Amino acid sequence: MTELDLIIDLHKQGHRQGPGGDDETRLAITLSGLQDKSGLTIADIGCGTGASTLVLAEALDAQVIAVDFLPDFLERLDEGAAAAGLSDRITTQAVSMDALTFDPGSLDAIWSEGAIYNIGFEKGVRAWRDFLKPDGILAVSELTWLTDARPTELEDHWTREYPEVATGSAKMAILERAGYAPLGYFPLPRHCWLDNYYRPMQARFPEFLERHGQSEAAQAILRAEQKEIDLYERHADFFGYGYYVARRTAD
Ligand code: SAM
Repeated sequence: MTELDLIIDLHKQGHRQGPGGDDETRLAITLSGLQDKSGLTIADIGCGTGASTLVLAEALDAQVIAVDFLPDFLERLDEGAAAAGLSDRITTQAVSMDALTFDPGSLDAIWSEGAIYNIGFEKGVRAWRDFLKPDGILAVSELTWLTDARPTELEDHWTREYPEVATGSAKMAILERAGYAPLGYFPLPRHCWLDNYYRPMQARFPEFLERHGQSEAAQAILRAEQKEIDLYERHADFFGYGYYVARRTAD
């Protein structure tokens, strides 16, 4: 089994593959104004097993196209959609986020929770803008500094792992330069990291190790996850995920 296979196996059992919360997805929907519209077409990019997809399909009069490059996650999403009675509102596409096949100007909204970092925030918001209708909505959550200054250990870690990490105001400025009008920003509360993501993942550690015969490769993956959790627990005052909601502006 490759390292990627092991990571998929650990995460596909989860309801979420990153920090987030149903209430926070609903708050972003409220900021977007989409709840007052009908017949929407929305893409949820890097959807994982579809926590946000299910909320969007349930809360809005919309068809949601859930995109992820991992078919294992999309299979779980299809099962979740069927269990929630939402299969007629959700379709899945196993496509990479840098090779999307939507027609230009065809989407009312693009959603992406904790996933745009895979192609980079600035590159992603610029590339995805073309798929939005005029006035279309972009809603993304993204690693964000919560303060102007921070401990060196933390700064060194994230600037090495994700050089685009920045403050909310810096991300807003990128959105404005890329042709969006920011409608709202909020940081995800801590329970979105701890109760919704890290604790359920930690609870799966023992079974994961058992499934993989306590292999060194499996243990290495859990060590890396635990290191990230420890970093969050030490420094949650200084970083988190920012949720950004913006409207496409005229060319
Ligand atoms: N949005 C989900 C959530 O919040 O639970 C998943 C977030 S997870 C941190 C990032 C997701 O992006 C994973 O599901 C991963 O498979 C997906 N991903 C990574 N690179 C991708 C790519 N190039 N194209 C499409 N999806 C990608």
